[in-house]
Amino acid sequence: MILIVGGAGYIGSHTNKYLSLKGEKTIVLDNLVYGHKEFVKWGNFYFGDLADKLFLKKIFAENKIKAVMHFSAYAYVGESVKDPAKYYQNNVVNAINLLEAMRESKVNNFIFSSTCATYGNPVEIPITEEHPQNPVNPYGRTKLMIEQVLKDYSAAYGIKYVNLRYFNAAGADPDAEIGEWHNPETHLIPLAIDAALGKRDSLTVFGTDYPTKDGTCVRDYIHVNDLAQAHCLALNYLLDGGESDSFNLGNGNGFSVKEIISVVEKVSGRKIKVIEGARREGDPAVLIGSSDKIKSKLDWHPKFDDINTIINTAYKYRCQAPF
Ligand code: UDP
Repeated sequence: MILIVGGAGYIGSHTNKYLSLKGEKTIVLDNLVYGHKEFVKWGNFYFGDLADKLFLKKIFAENKIKAVMHFSAYAYVGESVKDPAKYYQNNVVNAINLLEAMRESKVNNFIFSSTCATYGNPVEIPITEEHPQNPVNPYGRTKLMIEQVLKDYSAAYGIKYVNLRYFNAAGADPDAEIGEWHNPETHLIPLAIDAALGKRDSLTVFGTDYPTKDGTCVRDYIHVNDLAQAHCLALNYLLDGGESDSFNLGNGNGFSVKEIISVVEKVSGRKIKVIEGARREGDPAVLIGSSDKIKSKLDWHPKFDDINTIINTAYKYRCQAPF
């Protein structure tokens, strides 16, 4: 059994589907604060919270769990600045509860959803795993703290981990069974699609005076199924006796906000009303990751590395999403 904490959320649900189709038995644990019951279509479901230590004990006692994947963190950067307590409580304290439950039950394999936000403002592009980690907001700090906790737990207690540092997760299940469903939605691609579909009037571009090709921010978008594939490879790597390690997950290509808008217009065949707004606080001009390490060490091969395909899957899902 693989325990997928946060398996009703965006990346967790795609990973649950991916693993299940590969024949793995999965258990989803989710408190449905941001996750959706409708996304738990594979495996067994436990509804509950990581703050509930007795409940965690029960899950580990009832199932033969060989590895844990942890997706259930809060991930709104702006909110983490306004209400850091919420982030330290859930992303740090609750993650430690999970690690403690693993320790008590002698489950030793952990795959952690980390983030490029642990690097902070890049001093070098593309960003490799060796880049200094100096996060610039509480969200990034909570993720880095858990990476540090894992290092110490690994040395002292024998827990083995893989940190997967995602760049910009995007796209949806090509079968459109599940997809990106955030409430509130703050991400560029779904908001641009909604503007194209007329679900919202316009899209505001956050800053047009960055030192980039067209003045707008550049990001590295990675398809959610390619993230799922990486989780599967990381799982097999740990189960085969691999050492604890950290890997970036991006495509190594940067797209500006304006480029993304024009791809959404092309894919949808509709024009988007664009408003040029002020910069959003805390946005670095360019974030592009090198994923050479996971390609060579875990043989990761992204299948959706074309931005048109990534946006096409997102568009297909959003056209028939239940919201
Ligand atoms: N962005 C934007 N308008 C929006 C939402 C996002 O211009 O309504 C920009 C944002 O400033 C960033 C890029 O789009 O440069 C990607 O933002 P997103 O929130 O999707 O992901 P992030 O990079 O913050 O993880």
